[in-house]
Amino acid sequence: MYKISLITGDGIGPELSDSAISVLNTINDKLDLKFEITTLPAGDKALHETGKALPDETIQTIKNSDVCLKAPVGESAADVIVVLRRMLDLYANIRPAKSYPHMSALRDDIDMVIVRENTEDLYTGKEFSLGNAAVALRIISEDASKRIAKYAFETAKQRNNMKKVTCVHKSNVMRMTDGLFAKSCIEVAKNYPDVLFEQMYVDACAMNLIRQPEKFDVIVTTNLFGDILSDESSQVVGGLGMAPAANIGDNFALFEPVHGAAFDIAGKNIANPSSFLLSIKMMLDWLGAKHHDTKCFTVAQKLESVIFDLVKSGVKTKDIGGDRSTSEFTREITNKL
Ligand code: ATP
Repeated sequence: MYKISLITGDGIGPELSDSAISVLNTINDKLDLKFEITTLPAGDKALHETGKALPDETIQTIKNSDVCLKAPVGESAADVIVVLRRMLDLYANIRPAKSYPHMSALRDDIDMVIVRENTEDLYTGKEFSLGNAAVALRIISEDASKRIAKYAFETAKQRNNMKKVTCVHKSNVMRMTDGLFAKSCIEVAKNYPDVLFEQMYVDACAMNLIRQPEKFDVIVTTNLFGDILSDESSQVVGGLGMAPAANIGDNFALFEPVHGAAFDIAGKNIANPSSFLLSIKMMLDWLGAKHHDTKCFTVAQKLESVIFDLVKSGVKTKDIGGDRSTSEFTREITNKL
């Protein structure tokens, strides 16, 4: 029995959460993998109702669970996810970009993952006014850089791909901060002679993700660059509706879609739940590895193939060229499971 804490979020968050609960309940019933799900408030609605975007009880319940699923939250995201990442030391943000068939994608031959440092950089919120200017502190440490580099090389080693790590930075301009990040990655690379290593400036990387995305395997980069590049890579393979993410630490992990609350389509039952459901696939793989539970791997694989096959057969939501609603698409998945 795995205890899952589930933040239901804002915008399309509650619709995606309904879909996630349906799928998890089906796995419970049909595939003999047991979950106890506790839904939790956090985000704009929680802020409005309780005065806190991340209520104390929510934090406590997450800490008492085996794993956390988080639907997107709205304007208060910085007070929720950024805080949770740091509080739980979820230092690795993993964002796969993988081609699925018959999508409105730019390319259909991509299988890469962005490993983004999750605790430092301009996202720590250390900002202040200085006269009539505003200043943001960018902190990059050797420890955090080496830790994420190691994670990226281990990921490349385990993946069935080119076994290549591309370190993305801008050390020609930010010589100290990105210089340290690059130097740390170069040092870690020496311990992985079987993994190819290359460096790329972030602007060149943004271009190459469009020009020759098939050349990437694992990208390792700092927090802000990773955030931007992963939205781009998700679009190359078909859009944010198919883009899952994991926030991983040594003892705990949180899984969420790459995208935000998408208020423009909220409440219309048209959001693509795949981003969240593929996050559940990543969650199952993580639980399987942590608890040596092969059943988790089997169900993870099954869930991904069901989504893959449905999309291939043209059963898909509007964002990727289909006509199914969120709930219809979810029902197709639970039927196939
Ligand atoms: P944030 O900065 O919080 O990531 P954002 O302003 O980048 O948010 P998102 O909410 O991430 O915006 O979404 C951008 C657009 O992509 C949305 O307006 C929506 O049209 C589309 N979109 C995002 N997620 C989905 C989804 N699951 N299904 C369908 N369309 C989506």
